[in-house]
Amino acid sequence: MTQAHVLGFPRIGAKRELKTAVEAYWKGVLDEAGLRAAGRELRLRHWALQKGAGLDLVTVGDFAFYDHLHNATALFSAAPARFGIERIDLPGYFAMARGTAAQPALAMKKWFDTNYHYIQPELSADTRFALNRDWLFPEVSEALAAGHTVKVVLPGPLTWLWLASGEAGFDKLRLLSPLLNVYYAAVEELKRRGVSWLQFDEPVLALDLPAEWQAAYPVVYRELAPAAPPILLATYFGSVAEHADLLQALPVAGLHLDLVRAPDQLDVFVNNTSEDKILSLGVVDGRNLWRTDLARVLSVLHPVKARLGTRLWLSASCSLLHVPHDLAQESRLDPRIRNWMAFAHQKLDELAVLRRALDDGEAAVWQALQASAQAIEDRRRAPSTTVAAVRARVAALRDDDARRASGFAQRIAAQQAVLGLPLLPTTTIGSFPQTADIRAARAAFKAGQLGETDYVAAMKAEIRLAVERQEQLGLDVLVHGEPERNDMVEYFGEQLDGYAFTQSGWVQSYGSRCVKPPVIYGDVSRPTPMTVEWSTYAQTLTDKPMKGMLSGPLTMLFWSFVRDDLPKQDVALQLALALRDEVVDLERAGIGVIQIDEPAIREGLPLKRADWPAYLDWAVRAFRIAASGVRDETQIHTHMCYSEFNDILPAIAALDADVITIETSRSRMKLLDGFAEFQYPNDIGPGVYDIHSPRVPAQAEMTALLERALKLVPAERLWVNPDCGLKTRGWPEVEAALARMVASARALRARW
Ligand code: GLN
Ligand code: ZN
Repeated sequence: MTQAHVLGFPRIGAKRELKTAVEAYWKGVLDEAGLRAAGRELRLRHWALQKGAGLDLVTVGDFAFYDHLHNATALFSAAPARFGIERIDLPGYFAMARGTAAQPALAMKKWFDTNYHYIQPELSADTRFALNRDWLFPEVSEALAAGHTVKVVLPGPLTWLWLASGEAGFDKLRLLSPLLNVYYAAVEELKRRGVSWLQFDEPVLALDLPAEWQAAYPVVYRELAPAAPPILLATYFGSVAEHADLLQALPVAGLHLDLVRAPDQLDVFVNNTSEDKILSLGVVDGRNLWRTDLARVLSVLHPVKARLGTRLWLSASCSLLHVPHDLAQESRLDPRIRNWMAFAHQKLDELAVLRRALDDGEAAVWQALQASAQAIEDRRRAPSTTVAAVRARVAALRDDDARRASGFAQRIAAQQAVLGLPLLPTTTIGSFPQTADIRAARAAFKAGQLGETDYVAAMKAEIRLAVERQEQLGLDVLVHGEPERNDMVEYFGEQLDGYAFTQSGWVQSYGSRCVKPPVIYGDVSRPTPMTVEWSTYAQTLTDKPMKGMLSGPLTMLFWSFVRDDLPKQDVALQLALALRDEVVDLERAGIGVIQIDEPAIREGLPLKRADWPAYLDWAVRAFRIAASGVRDETQIHTHMCYSEFNDILPAIAALDADVITIETSRSRMKLLDGFAEFQYPNDIGPGVYDIHSPRVPAQAEMTALLERALKLVPAERLWVNPDCGLKTRGWPEVEAALARMVASARALRARW
């Protein structure tokens, strides 16, 4: 029999039960016993789903009240000394993940190139490990008691260690030996308790891993394997073909490969697999919500099956953590599009079908294969997925379309002639507070209780208020404040063709936070202008320049579930053209300053450095196509709030935005050093105050930051603005902070 399994299942629950329970516990309205009961119920339900679908092994250890990497930190008692925690219990676990009055939280980091974030272990030379059996083991007992065949998943030792932070100059590998001691104790006990398989997740193998880390693999697995249940070493998010020899030689019982991201690595592993290893092939996409082309996958699997027999296992590419729970809940989705999708629950069924097709022959699952083939075919033929006019426009793009008419020097002079801005011009990043009134109006509008005319009137009243306040504050380039936007991607997605929206397509982002990304299912185009009415209305209220506000093609792409039947770069170009039309329409309507936000530009960076240039090439091109349809006089801004781009500065400069605003206040302008060193050529607005906190900084604080910036950037190139949009703040603090920001800019101007 071919084994089918998953590397992990979404833990949040079909109705986000985990979020509800955890947040109730934080508020003090649910006690620890209640929270634990909620967790147990979800685990039992998710294991039952796996077994019910016909999977042989259930996966234990993928559950976490906050984050699975943080669970391992608790299991190993690796609390940094600053928390003063002896034995990590549930309150201590949350204290480290969320911070306390006395201690900032452990850092939160992006999980590889996903939108999931993990809690980073914090290690130092003084770190000591000890096995804390309050973690993981009760869940193992639970699963065994429920009669399941248990595969336990843990972060592999080298992955856990690699992802941890250490003080500068500290070699984390020095902790490997004590870490292995605690792993040893854990795996020995798991074996004793009757765990059938142990899955060690080692996704760091898909990164550029230094030689000494690669060399540590045999050491680790030689040490652990004899004491442990059979080990499945799981890799995902990229190819590990370069490590084939290393991996084949490890004393592990199996390897898992991500064949969705890296299908080409199959050959090297099938052709050289050692007889003692099973090969688990990730053929169902764990990162996206599309149905698997079962016929295509089977054509790949049949020869492998012939060769490996029962040594072939089937799985999803990576943990299903990154996909929503259950498609059955989507009652409002267009049934045709819905039929193209598979959420976590449906992916279990796909694995079961594939397994039966291999073991019992395709006739045994004829109906399921037929349904899959029909859905795939329907998607391929649907008029919405291939729109000739959109394809033709992308195909006709020329280099000139990605280039402004003149260079920056000429453009900025033309812009200055029109705009007449003072030295150190002040502006904001776009959004103003999303007040309770705004949210109530939108909710009423969506529920049909407020008519469109009334809703538009309510939003215009908010815009008027925002403009009046900005005029009073004396800002130089105004914004309309974005009251009409729920979210910077959804708002545009709703107005573009090719986008769909789920009701319950939640995926965990961090802790109890979930996101519900829109879905790009078809060719993207813009049927009508999206923002022109709001921006032109706002411009009628002031003589100051009104900045139009758009989300960029890359941000639209990376914060959505993207179709898998077209290269990402083609989707980016479609988005770019839709946005280009909007930019041109804004210009035509008299908007002379237009900002295209790209906070997500880094999210597309490939895991391996060698692949960066190719990505940055098409990413930059997409942005430039969106931005380049306008005259010299029209000023293009962009905004990014990632706190690191020193390593991609040439690409940032290549965007050729006239003005870039970035988040710098928390780094106290340190981020600007890179721009200065690189001699970043265009205008730049380093954020002078942190919008993540309600604190209103003193004027002198902002002045000090600006003085630092003036040492790094010529005064004529420098703008004055906050770090990011202000939608999460309240008006009183916003007005107070902006008043000081304007005063600071004016005082410096006078001195210059
Ligand atoms: N214009 C957006 C705003 O101000 C930018 C948001 C972002 O960068 N994340 O809210
Ligand atoms: Zn931002």
